[in-house]
Amino acid sequence: MTIALYPGSFDPVTNGHLDTAVRAARVFDTVVMAVFDRPNKNLLFSTAERVDMLREATRDLPRIKVDTYSMLTVHYARQIGAGVIVRGLRAAGDFEHEFHMAQVNQTIEPTIDVVVFMASPRYTFLSASTVREVASLGGDVSHLVPPHIVVALKQKFG
Ligand code: ADP
Repeated sequence: MTIALYPGSFDPVTNGHLDTAVRAARVFDTVVMAVFDRPNKNLLFSTAERVDMLREATRDLPRIKVDTYSMLTVHYARQIGAGVIVRGLRAAGDFEHEFHMAQVNQTIEPTIDVVVFMASPRYTFLSASTVREVASLGGDVSHLVPPHIVVALKQKFG
C-alpha cells in the first residue's frame, strides 16, 4: 500500500492540480491532497474553503483523499505514512523552486522521496494565481477550474 502526499496551497484547486493528482493516483494506491494551512502567500480562500473545494473536486475519485496540515511537509508525510511527496512541474521556474525544496527536505527526512509529474501540455501555463487574477477582472475561467470553483470565485469577486 503506497501513500503519496500531494501538498499545496490549492488557492483554489485548478484542473492542472487535479490532472497531476489523477495521474499520481495511477501510480500510487492513495494520494493525499493536503492543503497547507499557513503558506507564505496572500491567500484568497480560507483553509476551510480550500479544503471544502478540494473535497468537492475529488468526490468521485476514491483513491484521492483530502486533508490539511500546518507542520513541516516532511513531518506531515511521515505522520500519515507517505513515502513519497508528489509535485507538479510546469516551466523552468518551477524546477529551481522544487529542486531547492526537495534538497532541503532530503536533509530533514532522507527516507521520503519527491516524485515530480511533468505538467500536461494543456496545463503548463495554468496556475492558481492566474485563475485568481483573471477571475478578479471578470474573465471566464470555466475551462481552467471545476464548475463549483467558478461559482466560488464569482462569490468572492462579487
Ligand atoms: P500554484 O503553484 O498553482 O499556486 P500550489 O502552490 O498549490 O499552486 O501548487 C502545488 C503543486 O502543484 C506544485 O508542485 C505546483 O508546481 C503544482 N501545480 C500547480 N499548477 C499546476 C499545473 N497546472 N499542472 C501541474 N502541476 C501544477
